[in-house]
Amino acid sequence: MKPEKAYACYNVNTDVRLNSSSGAVFSSLAEYVLNKQGVVYGVVMSEDCYSAEFIAVTDIKMMARLRGSKYLQAKVGNTFNKVKEDLQSGKTVLFTGTGCQVNGLKTFLGKDYDNLICVDVICHGAPSPALWKKYVEYQEEKNSGKLIGINFRCKDASGIDCSSMKEMLKDIPQGEEKRIYISKNKDPYMQMFLRDYCLRPSCYECVAKKEKKSDLTIADFWGIQDVAPEMNDGIGTSLVLIRTDKGQKIFRSISSKMKLKEVSYEAGVKGNSAEYKSCVRPLQRNTFFEDMNLMNFCELQRKYIVPTEYSLATKIKGKVKFIIKGILRVLRHQNINNTSYGLLFAFDCKNYERSTNT
Ligand SMILES: Cc1cc2nc3c(=O)[nH]c(=O)nc-3n(C[C@H](O)[C@H](O)[C@H](O)COP(=O)(O)OP(=O)(O)OC[C@H]3O[C@@H](n4cnc5c(N)ncnc54)[C@H](O)[C@@H]3O)c2cc1C
Ligand code: SF4
Repeated sequence: MKPEKAYACYNVNTDVRLNSSSGAVFSSLAEYVLNKQGVVYGVVMSEDCYSAEFIAVTDIKMMARLRGSKYLQAKVGNTFNKVKEDLQSGKTVLFTGTGCQVNGLKTFLGKDYDNLICVDVICHGAPSPALWKKYVEYQEEKNSGKLIGINFRCKDASGIDCSSMKEMLKDIPQGEEKRIYISKNKDPYMQMFLRDYCLRPSCYECVAKKEKKSDLTIADFWGIQDVAPEMNDGIGTSLVLIRTDKGQKIFRSISSKMKLKEVSYEAGVKGNSAEYKSCVRPLQRNTFFEDMNLMNFCELQRKYIVPTEYSLATKIKGKVKFIIKGILRVLRHQNINNTSYGLLFAFDCKNYERSTNT
């Protein structure tokens, strides 16, 4: 389904962008709706960090929790009922989620509401929440701490100063928390996700890619450096697809807060086939889920994510490149693109010791 228009864009607020997965278009849209006393529905990590779930936000301060991709399937619970109640009471509602969640909401509602704005994220698939929980338990044991924060798309190359983490850790005294940064290329959970082993069955034949019911689609602009290099300043550029007049109207309303450039749909999705095509179900998909129920995370990792052996020289070269890239990035906010990111974990080690000793 070809949209009406396509844009490369990003939020002009650099801090907000650094705390968003891509170009922080979501934050601009949410701010617009909250300023109209509306309600924004989106996904947060649960209190214990073992799952992801939908919540409703009416306060701009709470909206920060919705920022950033959580790479696992989110619990919908009774969200659709709540959306319906808000719509019927006349509030403006922004619902954000994957294409199948937007389509599910529309089917549930059964009719159009003028006060509903739907935005989907391009989604190549949602990983199993059971795998995520297994991974967190493994990391907690390994790091002797309770996971209290996770940023799946930490944009800070050094991994030691991510502002979204600072907020989560503010109540924890020095020395009692531990942060670890793992590049997505080395993180076993992300590798299982990116190799498509752990996706929901429907993701391999995604119906939502054929019928888009959202007003706007937002995504990473993969390949921005080739399509519009002037829009690639290194801290995240989004692709926005306008699907309806309502979508066009709201996008126009936020455009003063964005740097943007119209592009062709073909150029926009050239590097992002997840917009129109499902991923291929790997041959290992069935055994992976059988093994997931039988093996611990280490065994699963050993079987499916074979570590690459690097020579000492390659390791040193890689480390030097990483440091130089980080320095350049801090100095100029340049020389990286949407593909450079990692996971930042924050553990509360004090409370973990307490809970395991009792
Ligand atoms: C599971 C998943 C797979 C994705 N795959 C791709 C892809 O293949 N290609 C691509 O271009 N982009 C993909 N994205 C989207 C991309 O990572 C960014 O979320 C998107 O570009 C928006 O970025 P932003 O900076 O505007 O806003 P951000 O602040 O980064 O995004 C927040 C938005 O994402 C929603 N969100 C976060 N986690 C989830 C979740 N688990 N389920 C539903 N909604 C969620 C929030 O509700 C909010 O609306 C994926 C996102 C998810 C969650
Ligand atoms: S790939 Fe399709 S079915 Fe899977 S989570 Fe994304 S939108 Fe839903």
